[in-house]
Amino acid sequence: MKYTYPKIELHLHLDGSIRPETVWELYQKEGLVADGVDYETFTRDAAVLEPCLDVNDCLTKFDLPLKIMQDREYIVRITKELVCDLAEQGVVHGEIRFAPQLHTQKGLSQKEVIEAVIEGKEEGLKLHPEISIGLILCCMSIGLETVNKEENLETVRLCKEYLGKGVNALDLAGAEGIVPLRNFHYIFDLARELELPFTCHGGDSQDHETVKDAMDFGSLRIGHGHAVYEAPELCERAIKNDITFEICPTSNIRCQSRESYAAHPVKKLLDMGIRVTINTDNMTIFDVTLDDEYDRCLEDMGFTEDDILKMLVYSAEAAFLPAEEKAKLVEKVKAYKK
Ligand SMILES: [Zn+2]
Repeated sequence: MKYTYPKIELHLHLDGSIRPETVWELYQKEGLVADGVDYETFTRDAAVLEPCLDVNDCLTKFDLPLKIMQDREYIVRITKELVCDLAEQGVVHGEIRFAPQLHTQKGLSQKEVIEAVIEGKEEGLKLHPEISIGLILCCMSIGLETVNKEENLETVRLCKEYLGKGVNALDLAGAEGIVPLRNFHYIFDLARELELPFTCHGGDSQDHETVKDAMDFGSLRIGHGHAVYEAPELCERAIKNDITFEICPTSNIRCQSRESYAAHPVKKLLDMGIRVTINTDNMTIFDVTLDDEYDRCLEDMGFTEDDILKMLVYSAEAAFLPAEEKAKLVEKVKAYKK
């Protein structure tokens, strides 16, 4: 169903949300489509429509979009299209995240990647001035915490350089459970020193220890983090410290970190007083929009419309925006009448 809520998307990956027709067009242009593959097979293979093994298995799906996101003009176009798509879906504030270090295979620097995404965002905003868009730079977990330490620290420093000039915050994304999350503390030690706003992926396919690690980093927002449900003491800590959880129900089910929509603990977390929000993670890879997520919330997960509006207020209050803009966003959500 199409909802008229003032929608907010806090957790959305750029490389997982490219228009399928754009990936197809650019793959054809670059001569990357294998013989005999048609549009339908191509787009079906590019998505995770049935539950896959786990989060790390699901991550292999990003190889396909990333292959063409190595050219400046493509990155600009893809970002612009995503801004337009969000605006057309009635999103009033969206935060798009990407890892600059994953777009340097053909010689772009992390800085050039960030500038391309900012340019795409601005082009999209020219067509849709009614939406606000934030950008989050992701550091990556790709194996041992030492293998890309330099690249990660470069991302943190660039976040500082572009903060308030197109970039809003920092994140850590990628493979889970290869090493303990706490091993990546060097990213957040520097982020705190530079006074950067940040979020951190944790507590998705890994247990609540990773939620604790993210909290210990000082993260006031946690990407996924639903494993907090299994640790009452961390639930208390989350309530006490006003920590916001960026929950992506469909992603959690397709990656098999939760069994079903009905078994997802997000409604229980909300009722406990925890600040949970609803997001899509990857619109193309999971073939899902916020409207689809709200359908599942209302039909399968026990939420009421008032719950959804309450979570949208939490989203607005946790947005990575300057205080004045954030206050306006909160006001806009609170003013919504069913
Ligand atoms: Zn994510």
